[in-house]
Amino acid sequence: MQPADRIQFLRQEIRRHEDRYYQQADPEISDGEFDALMAELRALEAASPGLVTADSPTQRVGGRLADGFPSVQHAEPMLSLDNAYSETDLRAFDERVRKGLGLGEGDPPVRYVAELKVDGLSIALRYERGSLVRAATRGDGDTGEDVTANVRTIRALPLVVPGARECVMEVRGEVYLPRAAFERINRQRVEAGESLFANPRNAAAGTLRTLDPALVARRGLSAWVYQLVVVATDGGGDLPESHEAQLARLEQWGLPVEPHRRPCAGIDEVVRFCADWQEARRDLDFETDGVVVKVDELAARARLGATSKFPRWATAFKFPAEQRTTRLLAIETEVGRTGAVTPFAVLEPVVIAGSTVSRATLHNADDIARKDIRPEDWVLVEKAGDVIPRVVGPVLSRRPMSAEPWVMPEACPRCQSVLVKEEGEAVWRCENASCPARIRRGLEHFASRGAMNIEGLGEALVDQLVTCGLVRDIADIYALTLPPLAALESQTQKADGTAIVRRFGEKSAVKVVEQIQRSRENEVWRLIFGLGIRHIGERAAQVLAAAFHSLEALAAATPEALEATPDIGPVLAASVHEWFTAPGNRALVARLGAAGVRMEVPEAERQATTAPGPLSGRTYVLTGTLDTMTRDDAEAALARLGAKVTGSVSRKTTAVVAGREAGSKLDKAQALGVPVLDEAALRALLAGA
Ligand code: AMP
Ligand code: ZN
Repeated sequence: MQPADRIQFLRQEIRRHEDRYYQQADPEISDGEFDALMAELRALEAASPGLVTADSPTQRVGGRLADGFPSVQHAEPMLSLDNAYSETDLRAFDERVRKGLGLGEGDPPVRYVAELKVDGLSIALRYERGSLVRAATRGDGDTGEDVTANVRTIRALPLVVPGARECVMEVRGEVYLPRAAFERINRQRVEAGESLFANPRNAAAGTLRTLDPALVARRGLSAWVYQLVVVATDGGGDLPESHEAQLARLEQWGLPVEPHRRPCAGIDEVVRFCADWQEARRDLDFETDGVVVKVDELAARARLGATSKFPRWATAFKFPAEQRTTRLLAIETEVGRTGAVTPFAVLEPVVIAGSTVSRATLHNADDIARKDIRPEDWVLVEKAGDVIPRVVGPVLSRRPMSAEPWVMPEACPRCQSVLVKEEGEAVWRCENASCPARIRRGLEHFASRGAMNIEGLGEALVDQLVTCGLVRDIADIYALTLPPLAALESQTQKADGTAIVRRFGEKSAVKVVEQIQRSRENEVWRLIFGLGIRHIGERAAQVLAAAFHSLEALAAATPEALEATPDIGPVLAASVHEWFTAPGNRALVARLGAAGVRMEVPEAERQATTAPGPLSGRTYVLTGTLDTMTRDDAEAALARLGAKVTGSVSRKTTAVVAGREAGSKLDKAQALGVPVLDEAALRALLAGA
C-alpha cells in the first residue's frame, strides 16, 4: 500500500471512529487504539508533508497559539437570553410571544422547541465551503476571541461538513467539559497538589482559553451546537424554515446536536419538559442549569425581533438553584495523606438536592479570607450534582456581632508540628512523616480499591488498628494475625448514653486476613501506587512498573532515567527519587519484600504488561540500521509507548521501521502491503505519541 492510500484510509477510519464515539456514543475501539491510529497518521504525514491537508484529523492540534487571542467580529451579535425562574414566568413569556404575533384566545398554540441549557461557554463556529475556518468565543457579543486552534482539538466538532459545501455558515453552540472528564482532571490535580476547578464550567472556560492546544486536546472538551446562522449560500432556497428542521439538518451533517430537545405544541408542554428535567438532568454526563425555550418558526422569530440585549422569541428557564443557607458551626481542619491540611465547614445539617449536608469544603485558608467566611456566620451552601458541597459565602446581613475572622492554625491538628506553606502554593502542610493523621490516611490509601484493594481494611478498621498500636505503617499490615484482629473491640454509644462494645470477631478477621494474603500477589503497579508517593497516581504507577519492572530498579533509578519515561515529568521524577532516597522508605520497602509482597513484574508478563500507552495494540518490526539511535533504544522507546515489537513481519504488523540496508523484512512488508516507516517517520511517531 502506498503511504498516500494508507493516509487516506487512516483519515477515514479516524473520522468514522470519532463519529461512533461522539455522535453515536457507541465506540468500537478503545481510546488507546484510537490514539494509535492518530499516531500512525501523524507519523506518515510527518514523513510526507506534501500529503498533509488542512482538514486532516491531525490538524486538530494546531500550532501553538500566539500570545493572547486575536479578536473576531461575529456575523450577527451573540445575544444573551431573557430568564424565566418559574412556571408563571414561562406563561408570561408565552403571553408576550402570542401578543407579539397577534394571536388571540381562539388561535392555536405557539410551537416551541425546548432544549437543555448546556452549562459551558458559547462558541461561534464559521464553516466556509464545508470547512471549519474559525471559532470564536462570545466575548462582548459583537466581538469575541479567536480560539480556532483550541476548538480544532474538540473531537465532537467536525473539521469538515461535506453537506455544507454550498454555503458559508456560522453555527453556534456550547463547549463543555463532560462530568467524567471534569472529575478526572480534578483527581489529577489533587494528585499533583494543584488547586481544584470549582465546577465543569470553570474548567471548560479555563481550558478553552489556555494557549496550549495540546493541553486542550488532553482535557477532553466536548460541544453541542444549537443554532444555525447562514451567512451566504450558492444554491439558496433549500434551507429549512423552522428551528427544529435546522437542528435536524445540522445533525444530519454530522454536527453534535443535543438529542433530548423536544418540539412542544404550546407552553404547557414546555412547562412539563422543564419539570421532567429538573431531576433527570442529574443522569446526564454534562451539566445543565436550565431549559432554553425557542419559538420554532423562523418567520415568527423575525416578526418578534430582539431588544438590544436578547431575542424576544426565546427565554432561558433556570432550574431552581440548589443552594441553602445554614449555620456555620465551626471551621475545622483535616490532614491528608500527603500532609495537606485543609479547612472544612461543620454545618447545621441542611437538605440540599435531596441529601443531608453537614460538612462542606472551604478549599483553603486564602479562599476563606478572601470570602471573609467566619465561624458562627450564616452561609450559603451549594451542591451541584455529584460535586462535593461547598460554602459559597457568608450572608453578611445575618452576621452575629460576635463572629470573629478565622485564622489558619499554625500547627498540625494531630501532631502539633508547625505547618509549612511552599512558595506559590495555597496549601499548608504537616511535614511530619510520622504524623498519625498522615499515617492513617496513608494506610487507607494503601488498602483502597484503586491501590492494593484489601477489602474490609477501611477507614474504621485502620483507625482501630492504629489506635491500639497494632499497625504503625503499611508493612505492619502483613504482620497481622488472626487472634489480635479477632479480639479487637470497638465501642459505640447508644442514644441513652450507654456504651455497646463490639468484638471484631473471628469471621470478619478471617476475611481480612485472606484479603491481605491475596494482596501479596498484586500487580506491582498497585504497590507503587499504594506507597503514596506524592504526585504518583494510578496511571503514573502503571507507567513506572512497565518501564522498570521491579521496585529494586525503580529505587535505583536516577532522576534522569525516571524522566526519560513517557508521562513522567521532572516533578514526578524528583518525587519518586526523593521518596526512595529516604532511608525510612527503603527499610519499609525491604520489609514489604520480606513479607512476601510481589516486588517484580513476572518475566512472562513483561511484554504483555507494557503500560497502556498511545501505541497500545500496535505491533512494529525493526529492520536495518538507524542513524540516530540503536535498535535497542528504538525498541525500548516503542515499548514504553505501549507498542509491541516483534521479529517477523505478518499481515498483523502495524508498520515496519526500515533503517539503512534493510533486509528481507522490508521486502516482506512491501509484499504484504504493510506500511514502512523510515527513521524520520519513527522519530515523528515517537514524538507525536
Ligand atoms: P445566560 O448566560 O443565562 O444569558 O444564557 C444564555 C446562554 O446560554 C447563551 O449565551 C448560550 O451560551 C447558553 N446556552 C446553553 N445552551 C443553550 C441552548 N440550547 N440554546 C441557546 N443558548 C444556550
Ligand atoms: Zn501532623
